[in-house]
Amino acid sequence: MGITKGLPEGFNPQSYDVIVVGAGFAGAVCARRLAEACGDKVAIIERRDHIAGNAYDCLDDAGVLIHKYGPHIYHTQSERVHEYLSRFTEWTDYNHKVLANIHGTLMPVPFNHQSLKLAFGDEKGEHLYQKLVAAFGEDKKVPIMELREKNDPELAEVADYVYENVFLHYTMKQWGKTPDQIDPSVMGRVPVFVGDDDRYFPKAPHQGMPAVSYTDLFEHMLDHDLISVFLDVDARDLLSLGDGHVNVCGQPYGGEVIYTGALDELFGFDLGALPYRTVDMVFETLDEDQFQPVGTVNYTVSENFTRITEFKNMTGQVVPGKTTILREYSRTYLPGVGETPYYVINEPQNIELYKRYKARVEDILNFHVVGRLAEYRYYDMDGVTASALELSDDLISNH
Ligand code: FAD
Ligand code: UDP
Repeated sequence: MGITKGLPEGFNPQSYDVIVVGAGFAGAVCARRLAEACGDKVAIIERRDHIAGNAYDCLDDAGVLIHKYGPHIYHTQSERVHEYLSRFTEWTDYNHKVLANIHGTLMPVPFNHQSLKLAFGDEKGEHLYQKLVAAFGEDKKVPIMELREKNDPELAEVADYVYENVFLHYTMKQWGKTPDQIDPSVMGRVPVFVGDDDRYFPKAPHQGMPAVSYTDLFEHMLDHDLISVFLDVDARDLLSLGDGHVNVCGQPYGGEVIYTGALDELFGFDLGALPYRTVDMVFETLDEDQFQPVGTVNYTVSENFTRITEFKNMTGQVVPGKTTILREYSRTYLPGVGETPYYVINEPQNIELYKRYKARVEDILNFHVVGRLAEYRYYDMDGVTASALELSDDLISNH
């Protein structure tokens, strides 16, 4: 039914079976599945002026395809997620590679066999590598916090080097905390890799970029006769939660509501704001073909930004004489002033606060929360898609 800006004159929510808040992966996957499997008429309410949520990409003034909300690389181990998303796009065979700039030397991250040799020299690096193989086996992902627990002095030397030069300063910049002050699952995302694979997602069976763009993927997913998308509309102006029910435009709503925004915001932060990190995204277009050798260089010991991404290196786009790079500056998110809450802070007191908000919607049987914001989880795109597939499975089977 199309994508329009604003709500049409006389918009009647009751004429829709489902109202989805947010046109990112969580909302778009649910909308498509319910339209297709149940014949539901779906209205998607999105307050930004575009679809695709944080995965949105577009051409900048120089004609370079950029990711407005930071570099997005598709990777998944889930056959189901891959099969589902592949209905709406083809993929390039891009394998994301990241180098850490360590005192001017560029070393692969995850820290691997080659990084060891660059850091310690060929001979000692090889010796240390063999020790790692003996301790963990070959082609293994080892979280840095696990490596640090080994008592062997040579393994401790490796662990200290990697901790100090790869994780400590980057993590301080990204989270304002040291690696041992944050949840181990966050560090576990980027292990030490005992092997030669120098891809950022070693061994992920599916990885790449959408052949055209993420926005194109979403255009296909949302292109369905029963789906209408309304941009530039804030759902908080339409939705209110009553005792056990949802009101839309002041009337009790009998259809399903799928909410993919932040729950604390929906309640006006009345129990306190859920903490997030936001990122200042600073784009720069340079008059050159290529700025750096790989998609992303992490500045793990220097600078006050975390990383530089060069989009052409990821998308494979050819734009002679121009390239656009992005520097990311992470900082505390300020609630309620229109900033983007990029990263959930996975700490017990925050999860507790989230659960208190969540408890308020649990008895509203037609109100469902899904996605990185609404579930307050550090999800990648595939995790959000998997969660949306599960929620829509439930809704389809109860239809
Ligand atoms: P979102 O994409 O945030 O969509 C939610 C939508 O809801 C938004 O468009 C928002 O405007 C809308 N909304 C919220 N409240 C309201 C309201 N009141 N009214 C109307 N609309 C509302 N994942 C990967 O797999 N690979 C990567 O390389 C990767 N890189 C990332 C880099 C960065 C810097 C960040 C922050 C994330 C990255 N991710 C990556 C994660 C990925 O962005 C998310 O997993 C995914 O986009 C989340 O989808 P979502 O639908 O849950 O949320
Ligand atoms: N990390 C690090 N150094 C690196 C890469 C990652 O310290 O070179 C840590 C850092 O704390 C980061 C976390 O590992 O926040 C997860 O990294 P990832 O690249 O997965 O983060 P994202 O892409 O989600 O920003």
